[in-house]
Amino acid sequence: MPERTMFQKVHFRLALLCGGVTVVILLAMSFGYLYVSEKSLKDNSFISFQNDMNTVISNLEQQTIITGEWLAKIEDNEKYLIQLLDNGVPFLFNERNSEEQRQLFDLARQTYEEQYPISVDELGYGAAHTEFRFSPSGKAASDYYVCAGVSRRSAGTLEFLILMPLTQLQAQLQRQRLLFAGLDALAILCLLLFSWYFTKKLLLPLEKSQKQQTRFLAAASHELRTPLAVILSCASACRGADAVKQRQFLDSIESEGLRMSRLIEELLLLTSADGSSWKLTKEPVELDTLLLNVFEAFEPVAVKKAIRLTIDLPDAFVPPCLCDRERIRQVLGILLHNALSYTPEQGRIRLSLAFDGKFYHLIVADNGIGIPDEEKSRIFERFYRADTARSRKEHFGLGLSIASEIVSAHHGEILVKDTPGGGSTFTVILP
Ligand code: ADP
Repeated sequence: MPERTMFQKVHFRLALLCGGVTVVILLAMSFGYLYVSEKSLKDNSFISFQNDMNTVISNLEQQTIITGEWLAKIEDNEKYLIQLLDNGVPFLFNERNSEEQRQLFDLARQTYEEQYPISVDELGYGAAHTEFRFSPSGKAASDYYVCAGVSRRSAGTLEFLILMPLTQLQAQLQRQRLLFAGLDALAILCLLLFSWYFTKKLLLPLEKSQKQQTRFLAAASHELRTPLAVILSCASACRGADAVKQRQFLDSIESEGLRMSRLIEELLLLTSADGSSWKLTKEPVELDTLLLNVFEAFEPVAVKKAIRLTIDLPDAFVPPCLCDRERIRQVLGILLHNALSYTPEQGRIRLSLAFDGKFYHLIVADNGIGIPDEEKSRIFERFYRADTARSRKEHFGLGLSIASEIVSAHHGEILVKDTPGGGSTFTVILP
């Protein structure tokens, strides 16, 4: 499967998983909250109905004559529906009730008598009442709160039935549900977008490293193919060749074999750096002595190439640096090797050391061919050669990536800039 589509699939699945889980949690929480909020709304509305009824009934008890006007006032614009039975006979006021309302009262009274009856016989003088929720059609939208009871007076018994339609409460619940649904939809959209973006960000370094690995592998195979092809063709040409030619072919085979072995060594070094399996043997190292050693090792090569190699060490005492001697020597070797390779005859290379009290600066400056600005950031990439045509055969484009891995393992930095007057200056900064 191509890498891109594989990562797209993984991204899609991860985003779905991440988004799905967060959405489920969000929904569970919001349903829980909605349930609690609806319950408290319903409880409060029932309690407030009971309180209202206590007031109405005690008011009713105080009325010696109950007038239609008083009842209409209590009905409060059809907020309540009231039915009164004086000794079992409906009040004149109730004559105006529609047939539908009468049926409603009958049903409510039936429910009251069956489920919440109050015994008049046990009642002294005064009123007793009970409140309950009544559902005439089974649909919550047309439910009522009912207050039913009886009052014993000197003139006989007064039965009352007060109904309050729950349309207002239902509308309020409906509004709340709609609000929740809207907010939930918005939150779900945000969560899905966020998880899409978040998982993409999460996968980005993985995708990048996968791409790098593939590129690395392709470049490594490409580099290994060339010497291998030379070895194979030399070996087959060797068969029919005379002794002199055979020696030439064998020399080629040997040098290509060495090249391959060096390349493999460098590759192994880089792969072990990737797996963080590098072991740095840190010890206090006198960097001036180290630089001097490296200088001495490279001097003969410089002389052979007619390049002037100089060294510049600080006069003041430089405290030992805690680092891996061999690795830092390797870094300096890479930088000097490059400087010698990319500096023409009669050129100059200066190796120097500076210490600013906190950081050590190891500098390799040459006045060679230099590196164009647009390539400065790329030369540390694996297998990158600024110009393949001008790069020598023994250069694989791995040297600087190895140097940069070593320096970052030391928590240091490697920088490149132009040497004033031409050439390149590499600075290794070690803490
Ligand atoms: P290589 O093995 O090809 O030298 P490096 O990783 O060491 O690989 O360097 C990468 C590229 O950077 C080189 O191919 C070369 O083009 C450029 N480069 C490195 N050092 C110098 C230098 N001192 N002067 C000019 N170019 C350099």
